[in-house]
Amino acid sequence: MEVRKIVLTEDEIPRQWYNILADIKLNPPLGPNGKPVGPDDLAPVFPMNLIEQEMSTERWIDIPEPVLDVLSIWRPSPLVRALSLERAIGTPAKIFFKNESVSPPGSHKPNTAIPQVYYNKVFGIKRITTETGAGQWGSALSFACSQFGLECKVFMVRVSFDQKPYRKAMMEAWGGKCVASPSTETRAGRAALEKNPDTPGSLGIAISEAVEAAVSDTSGETRYSLGSVLNHVMLHQTIMGLEAKKQLEKVGLYPDVIIGCAGGGSNFAGLAFPFVLDKINGKEIEIYPVEPAACPTLTRAPFVYDHGDTAGYTPLLPMHSLGHDFVPPPFHAGGLRYHGMAPTVSQLADEGLITPKSVTQLSAYEAGVKFARTEGHIPAPETTHALACVIDEALKAKEEGKEKVILANWSGHGLLDLGAYERFFAKDLSDFELSDDEIRASEKDYENFPRPEHLKSR
Ligand SMILES: *Cc1c(COP(=O)(O)O)cnc(C)c1O
Repeated sequence: MEVRKIVLTEDEIPRQWYNILADIKLNPPLGPNGKPVGPDDLAPVFPMNLIEQEMSTERWIDIPEPVLDVLSIWRPSPLVRALSLERAIGTPAKIFFKNESVSPPGSHKPNTAIPQVYYNKVFGIKRITTETGAGQWGSALSFACSQFGLECKVFMVRVSFDQKPYRKAMMEAWGGKCVASPSTETRAGRAALEKNPDTPGSLGIAISEAVEAAVSDTSGETRYSLGSVLNHVMLHQTIMGLEAKKQLEKVGLYPDVIIGCAGGGSNFAGLAFPFVLDKINGKEIEIYPVEPAACPTLTRAPFVYDHGDTAGYTPLLPMHSLGHDFVPPPFHAGGLRYHGMAPTVSQLADEGLITPKSVTQLSAYEAGVKFARTEGHIPAPETTHALACVIDEALKAKEEGKEKVILANWSGHGLLDLGAYERFFAKDLSDFELSDDEIRASEKDYENFPRPEHLKSR
């Protein structure tokens, strides 16, 4: 019998996160005056200990003991050889996936929710606000707040709130409060409702509401939390790649190809960054972030300075952006519908250290179903994008007769996204591709901002 699962014991869990800011250069975030943002500018929004982490250039950062204690509820996560998928494809490649669906909320997101809530608690914060699109981040943060005894308030985009009632129930099971956004609780929400009482809402409006709810609490005991994009989120997620490296070492292997789906960039970064370090130091390795063709940030949007939210509350971030007003077409991988991309991931793409790919919605679901019918697990709609790329690479290895090692992130399960599968089986889903004109139309969102420099890290 061939080995399927490579598991680490709890005492093999990594004790430090890897901070890629020690090894690459990044353009600084800019404030409204065009000057780099300092820690004090962010203090009303995030606790200072997390702001320090956001700006740190230390290569290795210790994971606090209370964080490890909670992470050990499900970590280390298994590294699984997709033997059945390999056999179905007839590929000589070895396919490994890091199974992040084993966390209580079912995705990689609690890897950062847990430390973020911990640092807020240490800083004396009692209540955290956030937004959620598909509901995965809201449930991860509710779970984390329940572990550390903080209150959690989630503004959930109206369409998802109506379409996915079970996500709200999950948040409530962990003691979180979830309201549909736009809500009547904030100025931003009321303004959006006044404009259009029937609005389906958007991530941009929900972010504005969550930030406003945090900074307008005069007790000073509320902060806001973001589940992707920022440097400290990528940092926390590297525990996945560090575990995977140890797991492959146990069987004497090293990846030739690394693949992760990319929304804001965090699950991709978490798996890939510890290997990007090896690549910077000379290793030959292909690293592919995979995004939907309907929201092609890395593959087609320019590298610019742009806001992280629609309302323009956030600093300008150096990133690949489709424009902060961009509303992606209604495809189902809610977690991949973000107009921008993590500055770290954007920087690596700009330098050619990683090679972005895109796949269409239908080919992603086909890959997801193939995976479910071989490996058994039903992937989240986001994860299926990575799987489509995995299958392409495995087929390429078959043509070339190469025994490649493919490492992919299995970012979450799809058990609360079955509505999307239902529509796929009913042939009710279609592909969206953006025209060049639609992409050019977004230029107005960022054309008056400064341009980031093209920096070189090696
Ligand atoms: C949120 C989410 C994503 C996309 O977010 P990233 O920050 O790009 O990782 C991908 N997969 C799953 C299962 C998610 O919940």
